[in-house]
Amino acid sequence: MEPKIFLDGNATTPVDKRVLDSMLPYFSKVYGNPASIDHTFGTEANDAVNNARQTIASAINAKPEEIIFTSGATEADNLALQGIMQANSDKGKHLITCVTEHPAILETTKILGEKGFEVTYLPVDKLGIVDVKMLEKSIRSDTVLVSIMAANNEIGTIAPIEEIGKITRFQKVYFHTDAAQAVGHIPIDVEVMNIDCMSISAHKMHGPKGIGALYIKQSNPRVRVSPMLFGGGHERGVRPGTLNVPGVVGFAKALQIAKKEMKAEAKCFQNWRKHLLEHLSSECGGIELNGHPEIRIPQNVNLFIEGVENKVLINRLKEFAISAGSACSTIQAKESHVIKALGFGNHRSFNSIRIGFSRVTTQQNIELLNNRLVEEISTIRKIFG
Ligand SMILES: *Cc1c(COP(=O)(O)O)cnc(C)c1O
Repeated sequence: MEPKIFLDGNATTPVDKRVLDSMLPYFSKVYGNPASIDHTFGTEANDAVNNARQTIASAINAKPEEIIFTSGATEADNLALQGIMQANSDKGKHLITCVTEHPAILETTKILGEKGFEVTYLPVDKLGIVDVKMLEKSIRSDTVLVSIMAANNEIGTIAPIEEIGKITRFQKVYFHTDAAQAVGHIPIDVEVMNIDCMSISAHKMHGPKGIGALYIKQSNPRVRVSPMLFGGGHERGVRPGTLNVPGVVGFAKALQIAKKEMKAEAKCFQNWRKHLLEHLSSECGGIELNGHPEIRIPQNVNLFIEGVENKVLINRLKEFAISAGSACSTIQAKESHVIKALGFGNHRSFNSIRIGFSRVTTQQNIELLNNRLVEEISTIRKIFG
């Protein structure tokens, strides 16, 4: 049986119908190159991009010129880390991040390490919260950048970004946050939170794949970023290449909708999570939530299920699209570096599953999942127990 019920909303989400409708004209009607402003084909496309940039900027309390469109959060993370470290190497070569970051961060810091930069990896506690005291102590005179994700894509824990922002601003080091799981799901205000640089992805909030942005603060402080790509002067020269106009338009629409609906959606998702946890705990026992019980994004549930290997469980729950960890680690069948970092021992990462809610999830899906989980957990425990 092929999976019919999508519960992998932390890996991606389907494009909302309203988003798709907003994009369609920009494939074949308004198809000009937004950089070709000598004629109306170009200026119409450019107007659409400007409107979208304005919408996205105001949704996070930034200025339009602080939004640089990229192909997604992976590229934004790469541009932020490599671009900032390169542009500011006169100040120093040290950066600070965390062990539970997305591979788009960790693989980039690994390369930076090989290129002569120095990286400090901060630990997290059992709930996945980064050690802020240690962060403060790790800042040195040659520290350029602190990069801590806003919300974890595997276990859902939200980082104390306001607290971190206060420290980094006071210490005069740049603060980048990978907010792919946060923007569109929880309120984010780059001014209030003292965020200097932030990665966003559209397809995690019912926008199209292949479009995202890097927010780069332009004043107090102005963040210096070297480009990673070279070409025409698009995106103020920081990210050249003809813009994905339908993607940009859809991204803005998705964020606009998400902003309006996030509060109601969060309430609903939180109830589902509570219901799942309560039901499974009383029916099966040996169930624990991975990540923080309250300080977490609403669309994620990560469950440790004692005595049940995740691969076996996922294999038996064929009608559901759920995952053993992140999207990338599922393909590679690796254990989760995030759950390992929580310090419960390695077995926990093989006994945990990730459920991701999205706008297409229904109450009926949750009931069905609840019943099937109870069934399969007891069967597997009988077979392997
Ligand atoms: C999905 C995700 C990414 C990658 O985003 P893409 O737009 O798919 O490149 C990076 N970081 C986090 C936290 C994510 O959840």
